[in-house]
Amino acid sequence: MAGGQGRYILPALPAVKRAFVTGAGGQDGYYLSRLLLAKGYQVAGCDRPATLAGPPGEELRGMGVRLVEVDLLDPAGARRAVADLRPDEIYNLAAQSFVPQSWEDPAATIRANAWPLIHLLGAVRESGRPVRVFQASTSEIFGLARASPQDEETRLAPANPYAAAKALAHQLTGQYREHHRVFACAGILYNHESPRRPPRFVTAKVCHAARAIRGGRQRELVLGDLDVARDWGFAGDYVEAMWLMLQQPEPADCVVGTGVPHTVRDLCRIAFEAVGLDYREFVRSDPALQRPGQPTGLVADPRRARERLGWAARTSFEELVRMMVEAAPG
Ligand code: NDP
Repeated sequence: MAGGQGRYILPALPAVKRAFVTGAGGQDGYYLSRLLLAKGYQVAGCDRPATLAGPPGEELRGMGVRLVEVDLLDPAGARRAVADLRPDEIYNLAAQSFVPQSWEDPAATIRANAWPLIHLLGAVRESGRPVRVFQASTSEIFGLARASPQDEETRLAPANPYAAAKALAHQLTGQYREHHRVFACAGILYNHESPRRPPRFVTAKVCHAARAIRGGRQRELVLGDLDVARDWGFAGDYVEAMWLMLQQPEPADCVVGTGVPHTVRDLCRIAFEAVGLDYREFVRSDPALQRPGQPTGLVADPRRARERLGWAARTSFEELVRMMVEAAPG
């Protein structure tokens, strides 16, 4: 071989990026971990011990996610996670994410939905490392907003303890960005669903019921107000927006939604049509199930996501509902 080893210039290997996903065992944790692994990231994830010990943990481990037990309710836990995992990006998805539950235990909801973020931002700041932080905010922070659609400038008006806790975390994200120069962004996420949604959420409840009624295992479906509208998208699309937000030269909050509202009635019609039934024969609205103070006009204005991130929801509402019906227990 002519020349010594010194003559060969090895191409620089691309540095492997490290991501830390909190709430990895939830719906978005699965889709986001899958996306990051496909992009070549090393992914570490945490969740509650019981969740990690069950099927979500097994699945994540099988995909190649390193599962870690971290108590993010303790600032020392957050500090250790940042020091030991040395993440380039943190995606804070951990939350008590079911609004009705937040009325039953507001204090636990505030702890789960705000403290991990406070501790993570503090740990990142103290570490001095250039860690980028994504916070999962929610359209619920706009609550009973008069303006519809909403954008990043819409005034916060949380209408339940879940939203109040998320509003606190949302504001802290902006404060750490402005005051401490931490690269922190909040994605103001509108409802996003998938076959992984638990049946306590209305989309999954309707899709499961359509299959069960078709199969003769259920007779009817009783819901609250069928005319409540939501801006529903597919979780697999939304995690791409989360990732894109952390790849920008400057951090900024961003509304992530489809911009198109659909009613619960639309949801029922499409789900029941998917199994060859007419929802009007099986779905009944019971006023006793209507929730007072329900947000009514939550619709995204996703212009910033389109212009800055080049992001738009790709999966239509019809496709989403059919996907969920198909995956529902047969
Ligand atoms: P999930 O409820 O499916 O996932 C949240 C995860 O966080 C769960 O695995 C949950 O564990 C875990 N968790 C709860 N409390 C703690 C805690 N104290 N420490 C560690 N982990 C905890 O929610 P999604 O995946 O749907 O949502 C992801 C994030 O996006 C959440 O923050 C949610 O509030 C937010 N969001 C979601 C929207 C949606 O439509 N999906 C809309 C707007 C915002 P366990 O299962 O054990 O409770």
